[in-house]
Amino acid sequence: MRATCDGLVIREYPYGENDKIITVLTADEGKILMTAKGARSMRSKASVICRLFTYANIEYYKKGGRRWLSGGSVNDSFFGLNSDMQGFALASYIVQLAAEITGEGVPCPEILRMTLNTLYAIETKLKPYGQIKSAYEIFAANVSGFAPDIWQCDDCGCESSESDWWLDVMNDRIICGDCHSKKSQGLPVPPTDELMTQNILLPMDNNAVAAWRYVTEASLKRIFAFGISDSESMGYLERASEAYIVNHLERSFDTLDFYHTVKE
Ligand SMILES: [Zn+2]
Repeated sequence: MRATCDGLVIREYPYGENDKIITVLTADEGKILMTAKGARSMRSKASVICRLFTYANIEYYKKGGRRWLSGGSVNDSFFGLNSDMQGFALASYIVQLAAEITGEGVPCPEILRMTLNTLYAIETKLKPYGQIKSAYEIFAANVSGFAPDIWQCDDCGCESSESDWWLDVMNDRIICGDCHSKKSQGLPVPPTDELMTQNILLPMDNNAVAAWRYVTEASLKRIFAFGISDSESMGYLERASEAYIVNHLERSFDTLDFYHTVKE
């Protein structure tokens, strides 16, 4: 049976002598695997479609319980991502995250749309990379069902704080600076317990909390449209959103390590 689908290549790896297996993110069926014969040959038409970050209309057929790519046309290759190492590293991390938060056979139109928008934002340098990265991480936490309660202090219920905030990663909540210092009775609470299972407290300021709230409520079209001019606040947001998603997904990402390596 022949069929077509619009999909984004989020993973590619060599298979056999000259073939490739690709993971394609689609709106209707989530992640799907496809085998592309001859895709590693430069002369093959499939080679153009089977590149990481390519968004294409893909033609395939099913045989022997597998999907075989037979052709297609490229909608967007995001070719500009190859011109900047840091952008490439970030895009690689974004699609690895996308693969992690989607399932095979589970429709994910919103995640596909957000992932495409994010690749576009990186390619065009729409916003600083750290801001794009945080927006995607917060989005990923929200669609995966483990968003923190970012709206008020979990202890006293205050919505705005004059003494900054702490993001309590493992308990999905924020605590205002006042409650945190009352609890610790003036003694410094270690920001992370040794096993990192109960206690990962990350400092946040009002700007960082406001940005997190904005991303949580924004439509996909407007999700990057916030501004943090203060680099310290941006640093809080970047560290907090990264620690949040990584700890909740309980895994590390080689692409994220790569991003940090090329960032320095
Ligand atoms: Zn409080």
